[in-house]
Amino acid sequence: MGDDPASRIYVNNKKKACEYCGIRSFEYALPGDTTQEELMDLIEKLNGDDSVDGILCQLPIPKHLDEKAVINAIRPDKDVDAFHPANVGKIMIGDYDFLPCTPAGVMELIRESGIDIAGKECVVIGRSNIVGKPMAMLLLHAHGTVTICHSKTKDLAETVRRADIVVAAVGVPELITGDMIKEGAVVIDVGMNRLPDKKLVGDVAFESAAKKASAITPVPGGVGPMTIAMLMKNTVKAALVHHENK
Ligand code: NAP
Repeated sequence: MGDDPASRIYVNNKKKACEYCGIRSFEYALPGDTTQEELMDLIEKLNGDDSVDGILCQLPIPKHLDEKAVINAIRPDKDVDAFHPANVGKIMIGDYDFLPCTPAGVMELIRESGIDIAGKECVVIGRSNIVGKPMAMLLLHAHGTVTICHSKTKDLAETVRRADIVVAAVGVPELITGDMIKEGAVVIDVGMNRLPDKKLVGDVAFESAAKKASAITPVPGGVGPMTIAMLMKNTVKAALVHHENK
């Protein structure tokens, strides 16, 4: 919705991934002055459309609109972002249909790299509903010992220094520096921050952190593409469930 340049890039990348996977995508690029009623009508229409298995509303939406109402309106079995409270609750109890794409992508990276989470000290920096909180929950389900840091955390550096696995999802360029990383730690950088010179950097100072880490993700090219891959996975899952129920 509207003309957010970052959203435009994300939507284009998601459309490209759909094309690559053989998923038919429909784009509704709504103008910035769309009313709540118009948006809700569209969601209602897509909820009832049998040719649509997954729906996502690219956030953020313009400030005059109620984001919570939009998230609540998407049918939980088509909620491929896994933001609906029904899906969030299922994640909490560990019995879920969809995982939110970014934390799911991080888990996949850790697993594919052969890193065992059980018993490890995991520190997640950030407590947003879409990244930090579900991330912490997934690490907990994988038997990590999890600490969540946020803007009121007293000694961030000292807490991060204890971590075997660090996940940074803050939105502050290069906040996490090499001196905060324990030798041999695994460092996952979720952050995507655009500097005034247009350069894209993460929440981790890559060069200094890479000297200490046993594994580290770059920005761009690390968690970002995984997020899109997990969106495709959720969409295929939704399609299979709808097909079985037909
Ligand atoms: P958000 O909603 O703004 O949350 C940021 C979190 O960081 C908050 O919990 C905040 O604490 C905490 N924080 C802010 N400053 C801090 C500091 N100095 N020390 C410790 N904690 C601090 O952001 P988000 O949506 O979770 O996104 C985080 C980052 O990930 C952004 O750069 C975003 O662009 C990126 N992202 C990337 C992907 C991807 O696909 N790669 C997907 C989603 C987001 P409080 O709660 O106390 O305010």
